[in-house]
Amino acid sequence: MNIVVIGAGIVGANVAFRLVEGGAKVTVVEAGRVGDGTSARSFAWTNAHRKTPRAYHDLNIGGMQAHRALRERFPQGGWWHGAGTVEWAAPGEDRDVFNDRVERLRDWGYAAEIIDRARLREIEPDIDPVAVGDAPIGFFPDEGWVDPVLITHTLLREAVRLGATLLTEQGPARLVVRGGKAVGVACAAGEIPADLVVNCTGCWSNSITDEKRLQVPLAPTSGMLAYTAPVAANLRTVVLAAQCHMRADGAGRIVIRQDHYDRTILPGTPVDTALREASELVAIAAQVVPSIGRAKAEAVRIGVRALPADGKPAIGPIGGLAGYYVAVTHSGVTLAPFLGQLITEEILSGKERNELAAFRPDRFHQENAPAAVAWRED
Ligand SMILES: Cc1cc2nc3c(=O)[nH]c(=O)nc-3n(C[C@H](O)[C@H](O)[C@H](O)COP(=O)(O)OP(=O)(O)OC[C@H]3O[C@@H](n4cnc5c(N)ncnc54)[C@H](O)[C@@H]3O)c2cc1C
Repeated sequence: MNIVVIGAGIVGANVAFRLVEGGAKVTVVEAGRVGDGTSARSFAWTNAHRKTPRAYHDLNIGGMQAHRALRERFPQGGWWHGAGTVEWAAPGEDRDVFNDRVERLRDWGYAAEIIDRARLREIEPDIDPVAVGDAPIGFFPDEGWVDPVLITHTLLREAVRLGATLLTEQGPARLVVRGGKAVGVACAAGEIPADLVVNCTGCWSNSITDEKRLQVPLAPTSGMLAYTAPVAANLRTVVLAAQCHMRADGAGRIVIRQDHYDRTILPGTPVDTALREASELVAIAAQVVPSIGRAKAEAVRIGVRALPADGKPAIGPIGGLAGYYVAVTHSGVTLAPFLGQLITEEILSGKERNELAAFRPDRFHQENAPAAVAWRED
C-alpha cells in the first residue's frame, strides 16, 4: 500500500515508523522541519494523570506502555526521562479532592501514592519545603517526560532506513481528491500519489482541505513555556507545584508553565513581548526551587495545542472520503507511540481497534455533536 503521511511531528513520526515496519510504502511530507511544530513547544509530560473518562485514561496508559517498549527498542535514543511526577495540592484545593484523585488513580491500577515531606526531600532535594507547606503530596513513579524532537527524529530516521521517503521544507501540502477519493497530496515536490493519505498536521489539520466535512472542529489554546538560564538545580521529576509546573530541560535549564500565563498569551504573541511574562514565571518557580535565584528567562516558546473541540483525540476516517485518515490530538506526546501502533493496525489489516471507538472524528459531524470544552489538562 502506498501511503502519504502529512506532518513530521511526534504523531506523524510514530505513524510513519509503524506503517513502514508493517510493509507499507510510505512518504512523509512536512511543510517545514522535522518536529518543529507543537512537538517542539510541548511540556512533554507523559502521563494519564487527570485523563478521564476511563477510555481516555486507558488510551494514555497505552501511550505510557508504548513509550516503555520504544525506549527498550532504542536504548541509545536519549529522549526518555522517567523519574516520575511529584505534585502537591494548590492552596485553595480541597484536600479531600486531591486525596480522592490519588485514590481513584490507585483504584484504576495506576502507580500513585501519597508521600510525606521526608520522602519528597529524598526525591527532590532542591525543592523548598516552605513552598509545599502542609499540603498533601502525591508521587506518580511511572510518569516522566520526553524530548519530543529527539524521538520524532529517531523514528523518522529509522523509517527512512526501512525504506520511507521523507520530504521536508515542502510548504503547506494540500489533499488531492479525485473521483470521490483521496488520491494524493500536492506539495512543493509536485503531486505525490497515494492509496491512503494520513493527516498528522496537528493544529494545522484543517489547512490541507477546504471541505468542511473533512475537517475536525478545533478549539486550539496556546501555551507558554519559559526556560531558565542554566541554574544550580537538579530536578529529576516533573514537578506539579501549586505555584507552577516545571521540569528539567537539560544542561541545568528548567522549563516552566502555568495555566494563568497560558490564558493571557495568545497565539501569535511576539516572543519578545512574552519574555517579560516568562521572567515573571521564572521568579515564581524560584519560590519553589530557591537555587533558581535571580536567573532570568533565557528563552520562551509559545505552542498551540492540537485540540479537537471536545478536548479528546480525533482518530480515523472522516466524512466518508475513501483513502483519507486523520490523526489529531492533544496529549500527543503521551499518546503518539500507541496511536502509531493502533492506526497502523487499522490501516494495514482493516480491523477497527476498540481503543479508538470513542475517538472517531465523525462524532463532530453527527447529530448531538459534542460541545466544545473551554480548557484542557496537559
Ligand atoms: C504548551 C503545551 C504543552 C503541552 N504539554 C503536553 C504534555 O505535557 N504532555 C503531552 O502528552 N502533550 C502535551 N502537549 C500536546 C502535544 O505537544 C501535542 O499533542 C503534540 O506535540 C502534537 O503532535 P503532532 O505531531 O500531532 O503535531 P505537530 O508537532 O504540530 O506536528 C505537525 C507537523 O505538521 C506540519 N504541517 C502542518 N501543516 C502542514 C501541511 N499543510 N503540509 C505539510 N506539513 C504540515 C507542521 O509543520 C508540523 O511539523 C502540549 C502542547 C502545548 C502547546
